Amino acid sequence: MATITVAQQPAQPLQAMPYSPSLDFTSLDHYVDPCTDFYRFACGGWMKNNPIPADQPRWDVYAKLANDNLQFLWGILEQDAKASNRAANQQKIGDYFGACMDTAAIDKRGLSPVQPELIAIDKLADRAALLSYIGPLNSRMMGTFFFNSGSAQDPGDSNQMIAEVGAGGLGLPDRDYYIKTDAKSQETRQKYVAYITQLLTLAGVSPEQAKADAASILRIETALAKASLTRVERRDPYKQYHKMSVEDLGKLNPSIAWPTYLQEQGSPAVSTLNVTQPEFQKAVSTILTNEPLDALKAYLRFHLLTAAAPYLSTPFDNANFDFYSHYLRGTEQQPPRWKRCVRGVDRALGEALGQEFVSRTFTPVTKQKTVLMTDQIEQAMQSEIEQLNWMSPATKEEALRKLHAIRNKIGYPDKWRDYSKLAIKPDDYFGNALRASRFEDARQWAKVGKPVDRTEWDMTPPTVNAYYNPQMNDVNFPAGVLQPPLYDPKSDDAPNYGNTGSTIGHELTHGFDDEGRQYDAQGNLKDWWTKEDAQGFEDRINCLREQFAGYTIVDDIHINSKLTSGEDVADLGGTLIAYLAWKKATEGQQLKSIDGFTPDQRFFIGFAQWACENTREANLRLQAVTDPHSPGFARINGIVANMPEFAAAFSCKAGQPMVKAKACKVW
Ligand SMILES: [Zn+2]
Repeated sequence: MATITVAQQPAQPLQAMPYSPSLDFTSLDHYVDPCTDFYRFACGGWMKNNPIPADQPRWDVYAKLANDNLQFLWGILEQDAKASNRAANQQKIGDYFGACMDTAAIDKRGLSPVQPELIAIDKLADRAALLSYIGPLNSRMMGTFFFNSGSAQDPGDSNQMIAEVGAGGLGLPDRDYYIKTDAKSQETRQKYVAYITQLLTLAGVSPEQAKADAASILRIETALAKASLTRVERRDPYKQYHKMSVEDLGKLNPSIAWPTYLQEQGSPAVSTLNVTQPEFQKAVSTILTNEPLDALKAYLRFHLLTAAAPYLSTPFDNANFDFYSHYLRGTEQQPPRWKRCVRGVDRALGEALGQEFVSRTFTPVTKQKTVLMTDQIEQAMQSEIEQLNWMSPATKEEALRKLHAIRNKIGYPDKWRDYSKLAIKPDDYFGNALRASRFEDARQWAKVGKPVDRTEWDMTPPTVNAYYNPQMNDVNFPAGVLQPPLYDPKSDDAPNYGNTGSTIGHELTHGFDDEGRQYDAQGNLKDWWTKEDAQGFEDRINCLREQFAGYTIVDDIHINSKLTSGEDVADLGGTLIAYLAWKKATEGQQLKSIDGFTPDQRFFIGFAQWACENTREANLRLQAVTDPHSPGFARINGIVANMPEFAAAFSCKAGQPMVKAKACKVW
């Protein structure tokens, strides 16, 4: 597919959210036969009418709505930045935004916000000094230094928060980038080395030294990458669950004084923790023992700079954009400053900004209707599970127990996060970003040893997305995703159940996909399937894995369906239960055709139109490696081809592309 681009039009803050219907006739391509390519039929017009803006790596219905949300919040933040008499949260979000917009002040500061740490790195006289500096550096600055650490829900006891040490320390988006030998991967590594060299040079390192340092940094990261689990391996939760004593972690990686390190991060005293990747810790220790001191210092310098770059002066910011967004994703130009600053507020103070968003956009009627829809879809799933002829009564009982235990979180959190301890100043952008990052780290570490707070959300209310968390056993639909064209209060039910209903079904089905099914009703990693039932389910998932491996993403790169199978299962299972729930909800009603489409056709077009997209080729390559979701065309065509309900709705015949000879089934 050719990517089309348009220049960015100067935008203005939106006074109200723009309306587009959940079934949009202008998005269709009437020349395409729905039985040949349903995605093209439903989205061809959209693809033609919505070229990728220059500041975007891809453009789709979700991204467009997210952009509208940002533009709407922009006006609120501009007011909050100027108003006198502000409430505490308005001061914080307004000043965060205002300081971010002040590029003159940011440029004037140049490198100075990170200068003290760069000097501290220069002064590290020996290996011992460097090793004991990693902890303080990690707690003071943003960035990933050799490994990651934080708090996590205990996979074995979902009611408890524990400390966790994980893999990390890479500057490229995935470990595969360091290991693959094809020409494109080699080119990417060369570009990465050039970026490292550029950033170090901007920070005052001589060009020759920066070049030598970049080679050392790539060598160190390659060793880290080789010791890291692949994305597919990481989908197996048992591969990342190794609870051990702090002492035993010290045996794996004796280079770090762990009790001191944990204390420096703000962790309460612990005797045990989860080490997600023990082999990785051994590699870290080897690197910290054998690499020359100067190479290790260069690594710390670069990781400090690359994490700080978006908050520093223009040359650092641009260098970071040029590599990560322009080269890796194909984005042509930086998003306008206002957009980056609204996103920044959402990252730093998401639940303060979220309150402003919810009060203006999310009506009690929408909440009530989407809560009802979620309950209906849950009931449809219950009937499907009850009717499965291949699942034993024992497994069914556990599956239903789990289904009924799922907590449905709709719109926004019941209690808002307290930001009173986070200081935000009107003239200190870097300081604000750093304090916000430390505030979040401290909040996370403070959870260690405490019971899990099951009311918490991992997404902010304006976010256009949704998720299922297997350890919480909850589904979460932020207010941002429950708006037109995804959920349209003005529309008839069919497209709403097709679109938002399928998303709800998708998230619920995640509780039973190949990853989610390994957790029980309380969110514990515990096998509740009989051996035969587990095999029966895996056979069904394998059907989808085989099907999706056949789709091409770009050039000869196929979908890695071992990576996407959880999402593909959620798509197929979710669409079916949304369809059944819609049938039940409208039982006995005389539904009429509207604008020439039957109710069933409207359900499926509504379903397909959430996924309309245009993506740049560079971003397709990145998604092929990192994205657990299949591309839009496969998420639509790959699903409807398995549904006889779809074939009936459009009178598709056996042998046509949208009718699979042997359909896959989840339920
Ligand atoms: Zn999903």
